[in-house]
Amino acid sequence: MTFAKRAAALLTASLMIVGTMTACGNNNQETPSSSGEGEGKVYKIVADNAFAPFEFLDESTGEYIGVDMDILAAIAEDQGFQYEIDNCGWDAAIGNLQSGQADGMIAGMSITDERKESYDFSEGYYTGGQIMIVKGDSDIASYEDLEGKTVAVKTGTQSAAFAESIAEEYGFTTVTYKDSPAVYAAVTGGTDAAGFEDYAVISYQIQNQGLDLKMIGDQQNITSYGFAVKKGSNPELIEMFNAGLANIQANGTYDEIMAKYGIEVEG
Ligand code: GLN
Repeated sequence: MTFAKRAAALLTASLMIVGTMTACGNNNQETPSSSGEGEGKVYKIVADNAFAPFEFLDESTGEYIGVDMDILAAIAEDQGFQYEIDNCGWDAAIGNLQSGQADGMIAGMSITDERKESYDFSEGYYTGGQIMIVKGDSDIASYEDLEGKTVAVKTGTQSAAFAESIAEEYGFTTVTYKDSPAVYAAVTGGTDAAGFEDYAVISYQIQNQGLDLKMIGDQQNITSYGFAVKKGSNPELIEMFNAGLANIQANGTYDEIMAKYGIEVEG
């Protein structure tokens, strides 16, 4: 390789790195600094951006709100750590966590054995599964009716994993989309006959956004949602998250947050 070629390759590589970082958008919100205690580290936390009621854009303020945002803020305040949040979306968030560009991730992320190979999780802070969705007037009433059809899922999610696990048995093909709104649009628009999404999220969408979708069947793979770090990194962040979660569960803040977003918590 000539010097010029090598320099060009290096430049391309560094541009790609910059590209990945800026792909995360510029909606950083810093937490109000608590009084300067702690080590002074500002943790970089990544999150989904279209996963109501866990994280979604409040159009009136331009800020991301939701259960995950409030829980993280309450825990950080309780534990006295600082963070900045980047609602870069599910796919980008996973990429940034894996590459070490983010310290932690909160995104309605299900704790699974497979993910435990790559991430360390906090204690669960919510429990829920995935469910099938079809257009409001669809005749599809069971997995059997999916024969020969296409089914929309969001990349790298438990919905995608579940749909893929039964695709052969029921004779359908999965189509992968980047985010939840794209999955809903594919189903309401008739591009795909059905989709899968987290139950709490799709219930919220149907109730609050009036999406022309209905749920079919039962929830699958009911699992806890957890806060994640890259395996082996930032163990203190997991400890603080767990300690703070226990405190906000004990002092009623957790219940207030869940009630604020209309989430039913069993038990
Ligand atoms: N709970 C699902 C999962 O972890 C979906 C998360 C999401 O789409 N933000 O796979």
